[in-house]
Amino acid sequence: MTDFDPIVLFRRSVAHSPGSPALSVAGSVIGYAELDQLSDRVAAALRTAGAAGARVAFVAHRDGPWSYVVVLGVLKAGGSCVPLHPDGPAERWQLMLERCAVRFGLIDPSRQEDDRNLPTMDGAITWLRMAHDTRPTADTTITAAHADDEAYVMFTSGSTGGPKGVGVSRGNLAAYLGHLLPRYDLRADDRFTQHFALPFDLSMHDMFVCWACGACLCVPPDPGGLRAAAWARTEGITVWFSVPSLAAVMRRARALAPDALPALRYAFFCGEALPWELVNDWHKAAPDARIVNLYGPTEATIAITAFEVDPSDMEASGVVPIGAPIGRDRVAVIPAEGVPEGEGELALSGPQVTSGYINAPEITARAFVALPGHDGLWYRTGDHVRRDANGTLHYVGRIDHQVKILGHRIEPGEVDEALMRLLDGGNAVTVPVMVNGTARLFSYIDVSADVPVLMERLRAELPAPYIPERITILDGLPRNANGKWDRPQLIRMAHDN
Ligand code: AMP
Repeated sequence: MTDFDPIVLFRRSVAHSPGSPALSVAGSVIGYAELDQLSDRVAAALRTAGAAGARVAFVAHRDGPWSYVVVLGVLKAGGSCVPLHPDGPAERWQLMLERCAVRFGLIDPSRQEDDRNLPTMDGAITWLRMAHDTRPTADTTITAAHADDEAYVMFTSGSTGGPKGVGVSRGNLAAYLGHLLPRYDLRADDRFTQHFALPFDLSMHDMFVCWACGACLCVPPDPGGLRAAAWARTEGITVWFSVPSLAAVMRRARALAPDALPALRYAFFCGEALPWELVNDWHKAAPDARIVNLYGPTEATIAITAFEVDPSDMEASGVVPIGAPIGRDRVAVIPAEGVPEGEGELALSGPQVTSGYINAPEITARAFVALPGHDGLWYRTGDHVRRDANGTLHYVGRIDHQVKILGHRIEPGEVDEALMRLLDGGNAVTVPVMVNGTARLFSYIDVSADVPVLMERLRAELPAPYIPERITILDGLPRNANGKWDRPQLIRMAHDN
């Protein structure tokens, strides 16, 4: 195990300050020694069940200690965490578990509502009940992990074939922590936010960056953000991390008044383009905070480039640059026809880049490629970037149809595929449309259907952010001169209606 292995770092903080607070969630505060003991218990139970080193699924509620204890316990048992979103839908859980051949799952017995929906997979998965048990265990073994061992699986939207499981290794995670931690003076007396759903990899940053520093991870009761600023003041938050959309919600709720967040030392943003005008307001609300725009796809472990905002640049417009690599990973800009020099698709290679999608060799081979003139394997991000004369990378947009909705990565093609499956014929095209500064999906189909029923059936298959605002039936879907779907026209139609 390397020095930056997440469990090595966590255990170092336990040894250094066992009595310090490690987790503040749902009104209770858990210290480092207690969190260590609780997670030892999970690891011991997994070993007893023959699940050491296995992928372990669990319904990951953000707002209670159980999920955080489970993450540590699974890693201590040398296994891989497969967090499932509590909102399901259950059909999607099943698809994910089958795709990654998950054989073990943990259930929190106090969340009986989860039981009803758990896929049984005809007995192929064993669900173990694991109460939040505070008694110490005699078995405090930690299974030694190797760099290639999987640490967690995150699912991302796929334009064809549904969600793709990205397997992130202990080595990938250790590389990320080794790159990020030395850059910022994060301290044991810091108080970190944890806004993210656990099936979103930014939650792994929150946990392991915080616990590496011996600091306290603070989970807000309301991830939506309307009360986030007031909560941050009460909790004494010093290190903030969220998607820019959350900051935009706070701004709309007039929660970013000047000096509203005086204790903040750092504000990290990631997951979406960060508008300068938002940074401007954030800087006034948190004048002492260093503001950092992190960029990265799940496939390259949390974040791979960073740009720290200089307060004298506040009058800039557009979106904040995504900067340069935080560590040893390399970036390449793939040139394309009709695109100015220095612009093109961003490709990534190095120790943070994962080895691809689980049990999906074809889509892995399309996204993880060799690049002419470069050694190693490169992940093609699908992000269109521009590299300026200083080598700073600027985010321009996507080269495909992928969108971010409140930080959720969505391939509209996945919505189309689900609609066409449910319609049993016909075509469906889903387009993103900006409504009050937020992207929303609008779907168009060319066959008759009972739209409310179709919506209901779609909800049983896809998570809430994928559900279109509206499904409209057209006599025929418009095509452009090349015979492709005329998406700009559909976007105009969505605006007009
Ligand atoms: P995910 O895998 O969910 O983390 O989504 C990764 C995608 O989010 C990237 O490929 C980008 O399209 C987008 N993204 C992440 N961070 C940024 C950023 N700082 N600026 C612009 N886009 C970003």
